Amino acid sequence: MIDFTLTEEHKMVKKASSDFAKRLAPQRDKILLSKDHRQATDFLKEAWKGMGELGLLGCIIPEKYGGNNTGLMTMVMMTEEMSAQGVGTPIIVTTMMDVACLLRCASEGLKQKYLPPVAAGDMRLAFALTEPDAGSNAVKIKTEAKKDGNIYRITGQKIFITGADVADAMLLVTRTTSYEDTAKQGKPRFYGLTLFMVDMKSKGITMSKIPIHGFEGAQQYVIYLDNVEVPASQLVGQENMGGIALFNSLNPERIIAAADAVGISEYALHRAVDYAKQRKVFKDTPIGAYQAIQHPLAESRIELEAARLLTYKAAWAWDQGLPPPEVGKWANMAKITASDMALKCVDRAIETLGGYAFSEEYGIIHLWDMARILKTIPVSRENVLNFVGEHVLGLPKSY
Ligand SMILES: Cc1cc2nc3c(=O)[nH]c(=O)nc-3n(C[C@H](O)[C@H](O)[C@H](O)COP(=O)(O)OP(=O)(O)OC[C@H]3O[C@@H](n4cnc5c(N)ncnc54)[C@H](O)[C@@H]3O)c2cc1C
Repeated sequence: MIDFTLTEEHKMVKKASSDFAKRLAPQRDKILLSKDHRQATDFLKEAWKGMGELGLLGCIIPEKYGGNNTGLMTMVMMTEEMSAQGVGTPIIVTTMMDVACLLRCASEGLKQKYLPPVAAGDMRLAFALTEPDAGSNAVKIKTEAKKDGNIYRITGQKIFITGADVADAMLLVTRTTSYEDTAKQGKPRFYGLTLFMVDMKSKGITMSKIPIHGFEGAQQYVIYLDNVEVPASQLVGQENMGGIALFNSLNPERIIAAADAVGISEYALHRAVDYAKQRKVFKDTPIGAYQAIQHPLAESRIELEAARLLTYKAAWAWDQGLPPPEVGKWANMAKITASDMALKCVDRAIETLGGYAFSEEYGIIHLWDMARILKTIPVSRENVLNFVGEHVLGLPKSY
């Protein structure tokens, strides 16, 4: 039987996240207006600790590592609720995608090292895949890990790494066999990738901030790795077989990003509806009575529920332990549906508020950037369509 009823656990997590986010919202609004990154970082640390204390960071972490094991579905609901109050953070995405990968692919030692502090709110994680010449085509990364006895020596460069300044460690994607050698050996293109958990304070790591427009709650960095020594025990999964571990991380990333888009949309829609109920322009009728305003908002409500359902289905697929290609199908579809919907929803909210939407004081216009970024990351719209065309419909690849 298909049952859409939320469990008591789901309801509790939704309420706890929503209440917590509501308490944080006024402080967050002030920081948003001040544009002070130092204050935003302090705020994140405080909020993170609070989320840990409430058990919100332990949803996908088993009890034996300090979590509550309520599943990615609960994590998705928590992300939605936080974003729906305007206090979401991309660090939730980066940390939880790493956790998902550790859970499914890491050694017992690594699980014990990283999962309990994340669940307690004492640790944040970054994810480092993208390089200047390898974004959509991630297999072309060049960061190289060379084995030297019991350590690996890692050299290379990563770009756009979210939260590198506030993370304690990162899940780093490297190559132990180059792309060219992989091709020469006739191996699949994902062969040769190797993943490591790397301490951000490791000797040989330096970083520089990239000024990025409109991505609230986290900064992006270029990370330079110069002969960074990483113990072999930090390897996640198997050497050269990191493709498997990688998709155990990228699928949850897409699902949590979809949940974020749903939450942002919920926030934009509520703000628009509240405004439309009280703003009067002609006579005594609020603008919400005009169908040119009312119908687009009604459409948003409908589209939002559809995107939410697809996101829940993707989270369900991950919680069921379905194989990564099957989870990927739903994760990609959820991500594209939710991010397309978020753009429309935010645009309609802007339309509803008229000129006031562009006043920073109203806290609406920054949502446009957030929603637009989610069209391109963590996987671009075009690459989702490529995936669905090729792997769901079985159509030939053009590139
Ligand atoms: C705010 C922000 C935060 C980020 N955080 C992280 C992070 O924490 N960790 C990390 O590793 N990366 C991160 N990224 C990187 C992000 O994942 C990449 O930017 C994204 O995957 C796209 O890669 P690219 O920018 O190199 O674009 P490209 O791959 O150069 O693509 C450029 C354009 O061409 C299109 N395109 C490419 N190939 C095809 C094709 N085959 N068919 C049709 N169209 C195609 C793309 O869709 C895109 O529109 C972040 C980026 C941003 C902007």
